[in-house]
Amino acid sequence: MIQLTPVLRPTDLTDELVQQLTDRFKADKTQRVWNEEFIKTALLQMSSGKCCYCECKINEESKYMEVEHYRCKDIYEDEVLLWSNLLPSCKRCNGTKHNHDTGVEPIIHPVNDDPRNHLELKAYRFYGRTLIGKTTVEVINLNERERLQRKRFEVGAEIKERLDELEIQMRDYLESLPSTRKRRNIIHKLRGIIQQGQPNEEYAATVSTEILREDSYHFVKAELINLGWWDDDFQRLEDELAKIAFL
Ligand SMILES: [Zn+2]
Repeated sequence: MIQLTPVLRPTDLTDELVQQLTDRFKADKTQRVWNEEFIKTALLQMSSGKCCYCECKINEESKYMEVEHYRCKDIYEDEVLLWSNLLPSCKRCNGTKHNHDTGVEPIIHPVNDDPRNHLELKAYRFYGRTLIGKTTVEVINLNERERLQRKRFEVGAEIKERLDELEIQMRDYLESLPSTRKRRNIIHKLRGIIQQGQPNEEYAATVSTEILREDSYHFVKAELINLGWWDDDFQRLEDELAKIAFL
């Protein structure tokens, strides 16, 4: 889970339309009035096509995406189309949260809260640091073993492996005669690894955390600085990791 930057309410979603659709929903609760393509598109833009809770990709023609109501539409029916109440979610997270009442027992709001203030990430599991964090882990089932924990382990292990290989390559470079090919290769690989932890990537919380926690990363980075290869672009990319990593 990472904090998302809000996007503006779509211009198509006018006050009149909100009123009209909200009334329709209140008259008949089976009406899926939020199921509009322009709503889904704007919400997906906010999360770079990911679920706001588990960070799986849901952008394939928005068919796997569900419009999540932070405050449950069955209880807070007037907020069924309130823009700040709508979030992009996968079927699993939306279904797991179901009609949990966040008005009574709040969970992390992916736009308003920084999840790092409420959660810790240890061994690919999330733990609550606050009551809100603990409730979030439970209500979203953030540590579901097959679907989430294993996925985080897989992406984390892959990053660790790539960093270990890069450390070996760097040591090899330092011990042999300077080679342009080897230099380019190291720079290219490191950039690729850091790219994978950027906020728009799947499971970015796990990947960014893994990168910044690994000694191999800091070894390679220190050598890049020594060699004068660490540029503004690397720094910018690393700053993005630091904004979302659970350190
Ligand atoms: Zn999800």
